[in-house]
Amino acid sequence: MNPDALRFGPDGLLPGIVQSPAGEVRMMAWLNREALRLTLETGFVTFWSRSRQELWTKGATSGNRLKLLQVRPDCDGDALLILAEPEGPSCHRGTDSCFDGDEPWPATLPWLGRLEALLASRRAAADPAGSYTQRLFAQGVDRIGKKVVEEAGEVVIAAKNEDREAFLGEAADLIFHLDLLLLAKGASLRDVVDVLQRRHADATGGKA
Ligand code: AMP
Ligand code: ZN
Ligand code: ZN
Ligand code: ZN
Repeated sequence: MNPDALRFGPDGLLPGIVQSPAGEVRMMAWLNREALRLTLETGFVTFWSRSRQELWTKGATSGNRLKLLQVRPDCDGDALLILAEPEGPSCHRGTDSCFDGDEPWPATLPWLGRLEALLASRRAAADPAGSYTQRLFAQGVDRIGKKVVEEAGEVVIAAKNEDREAFLGEAADLIFHLDLLLLAKGASLRDVVDVLQRRHADATGGKA
């Protein structure tokens, strides 16, 4: 990224939209040149606080920092998309995203990343006497693999019937247990998306 090509506003600020690797929009805050420089230099996302009129490294007091992965300006250089790994909730209310509300938001795929984060915590607390997922993790790859095969069979059978809810339920079971298997193998949905993206790039000559 070429910082000279950026078009900071008359107040010297650019909006920075923070996205997590799962694709969630986490928060929006403002950056001046110094905030951007510190973000790139320290590897932790730093903003300019308009209310406090000072540089503000997100998480400085809460500990919920944003570990920088990538930054890219928009088409005309007057906004930044900041890809960052959150170390905790990103909103001062304690929610993951500043845009979390009471109503479900129908951009649902990034939500899988949240489910996966919960499942990863279950894996870390694997327990033969614990919750369903804690027990599965405790039983290991063979047991989880059997569940994946079982659910795959149920999806295929449900696909032959007209009961849409039942079909979707089985598809949910399959994705859920496949994610458990990925996690049990130390992998994640992101790793699978990486593979899909690489194949797609191969198939399209890298144009997408
Ligand atoms: P933190 O950066 O998480 O240590 O929080 C420090 C202060 O920054 C909070 O007390 C809030 O005033 C502000 N703050 C934290 N997170 C956000 C956010 N996502 N959007 C706006 N202000 C925030
Ligand atoms: Zn723009
Ligand atoms: Zn917030
Ligand atoms: Zn099932």
